[in-house]
Amino acid sequence: MDHLTLNNGVEMPALGLGVFQTPPEETRAAVQAALEAGYRHIDTAAAYGNEREVGEAIAGSGVDRSEVFIETKIWISDYGYDETLHGFEKSAAKLGVDQIDLLILHQALPSEFEKTLDAYRALETLLEQGKVRAIGVSNFMVDHLTTLLDKASVAPAVNQIEVHPYFQQREVQALGAKRGILTQAWSPIGGITFYREGEHTSTLQDPTIVAIAEAHSKSPAQVMLRWHLQQGRSVIPKSTKAHRIAENFDVFDFELTADELAAIDALDTGKRGGPEPTDITLENFGRPIPEA
Ligand code: NDP
Repeated sequence: MDHLTLNNGVEMPALGLGVFQTPPEETRAAVQAALEAGYRHIDTAAAYGNEREVGEAIAGSGVDRSEVFIETKIWISDYGYDETLHGFEKSAAKLGVDQIDLLILHQALPSEFEKTLDAYRALETLLEQGKVRAIGVSNFMVDHLTTLLDKASVAPAVNQIEVHPYFQQREVQALGAKRGILTQAWSPIGGITFYREGEHTSTLQDPTIVAIAEAHSKSPAQVMLRWHLQQGRSVIPKSTKAHRIAENFDVFDFELTADELAAIDALDTGKRGGPEPTDITLENFGRPIPEA
């Protein structure tokens, strides 16, 4: 398995299991299947409602806690300095851990950026106190990152953003690379494109990706994950199915050529699958995160 070194020296397994939209009752089995397949990194979020099950699966797995990299996210309803400190307490209690490996802000709140900065200051405090090993952000665009870098004392270690062959966000990635912020791809195999209405856009059926997969006797999902890893990104594919969880981890025994990487680079449509970051407001997306 590949590891990536974050900007503060912390080592993170490059590939983790994502659990967005994994129902709580299926989460234990998915995390268990992942740990059995060799995963040592799980990406959850306060807003996913399954932190408790992630923690229970890790605790019951027989794999030492210290070997598993746990990443979670503070939801926008818990932004503000004190609120975010409390958000950490809620997540840690649900996960059943004293320390979280990577804690990130789930979204920028563009219309209330001061509140976002207050939340980030709380992450800096948690880092200083040793309650988290690394801090970061998610869905931060160039302007959000630029303002944050200007105001923060600690640069984020990670920016988790939508990246798959059909939406690559190269400008955000380039700024991250320049400032030591690792890009972590959400929807790395294009999951967000599967739900698009009225269009057949699945990256899994893309002829370019399918042809590359056939050439390597691998699946389209494995080819996309390899594309990310070879370009230095972390990936957190989601599945609830044990065989796909194992398939998505079986990507460390082949290499794409420079031409193949370039062919996938050329598939960018510039069309975002997730919500526009500017549309994220407490009015539209705020909802309380339950106490532990
Ligand atoms: P993914 O690109 O991981 O795709 C997931 C979809 O692909 C699911 O429908 C899954 O179905 C299917 N799938 C998984 N593996 C395979 C395979 N090998 N072959 C065929 N189909 C497969 O998209 P997600 O949107 O789920 O993103 C992954 C993770 O990223 C999330 O779980 C979450 O952790 C994070 N995320 C973060 C966001 C943020 O705002 N920060 C937003 C969205 C996601 P099935 O489960 O049935 O196998």
